[in-house]
Amino acid sequence: MPELLERALGAYLGFAIGDALGATVEFMRPREIALQYGVHRSITGGGWLKLAQGQVTDDTTMSLALGDALLLGGHPALARYAQGDDTLIRGIGDAYVRWFKAKPVDCGNTCRRGILRYLRDGSLEGTYNPGDGGNGALMRNLPAVLATLGDDAAFERLSMAQAHLTHHHPLSDAATLGMGRLLGLLLGGAGHRACQQWAAQWVADNPDFRFTPYRGYATAYVVDTVQTVLHYLTLHEDFEDALVATVNQGDDADTTGALVGMLAGARCGASKLPKRWLRRMQPDIVQAISDQTGGLLALAAAT
Ligand code: MN
Ligand code: MN
Repeated sequence: MPELLERALGAYLGFAIGDALGATVEFMRPREIALQYGVHRSITGGGWLKLAQGQVTDDTTMSLALGDALLLGGHPALARYAQGDDTLIRGIGDAYVRWFKAKPVDCGNTCRRGILRYLRDGSLEGTYNPGDGGNGALMRNLPAVLATLGDDAAFERLSMAQAHLTHHHPLSDAATLGMGRLLGLLLGGAGHRACQQWAAQWVADNPDFRFTPYRGYATAYVVDTVQTVLHYLTLHEDFEDALVATVNQGDDADTTGALVGMLAGARCGASKLPKRWLRRMQPDIVQAISDQTGGLLALAAAT
């Protein structure tokens, strides 16, 4: 497998694995997890959403909705978007509406509010809202990174447009761009040391997200989410070590897990993902991810 595809597939499958692993302990405190599981390291389903084994949540299915919309529009829609035609972004809004109407297992409050606003008046973003600092726009941005790989201006434009459909907050924006650029770096072959150096420089430029010393908050507030992700991603080089440490921090564990799985998965590549976890994932999700990954990279290559 070409190295880029191997890393991109590692990112998308790693994301889904982190979602499935973390969802079991979502909203639990570290001490509760320790009491109930010792160290939580098995994909078993359950959790507050009562998931089947290997089932993913909104993090993965909303990412797939974004990926679907990008592939549906294809290269012509991306090219027209660069010229100022926002049909592509309406296509993304429509995909989020379809996703919402299909009754996903979970949907964050800010995502719900934004989708209902788009459905009501067709507007592509709400006004700045201090309550929009959740991680919902950040969590689903992976397909936008793949579809614009190698074109930073296109990446920024598309990421902000998909984000603003539901979230309009400077910290959400900064986090979405930052984690997207880090993903791009890792897809390009950066290793653990380069990852640590990038993170140190990025938090120097974006001090809200400084993660040393780590405060131990892993909530859905985008600052807590990013601090948790960068802390464990830079602490552990190994995919499994990084992901287990992250989800055992609890709280928004499916989302912190998904993001660490994405970044650590890009760093190690799909062939290094633990087989015992991959085998537990639902086959239709693995198939959808595999199909999308190649298609999205082809979109980037065509630009
Ligand atoms: Mn979720
Ligand atoms: Mn979550």
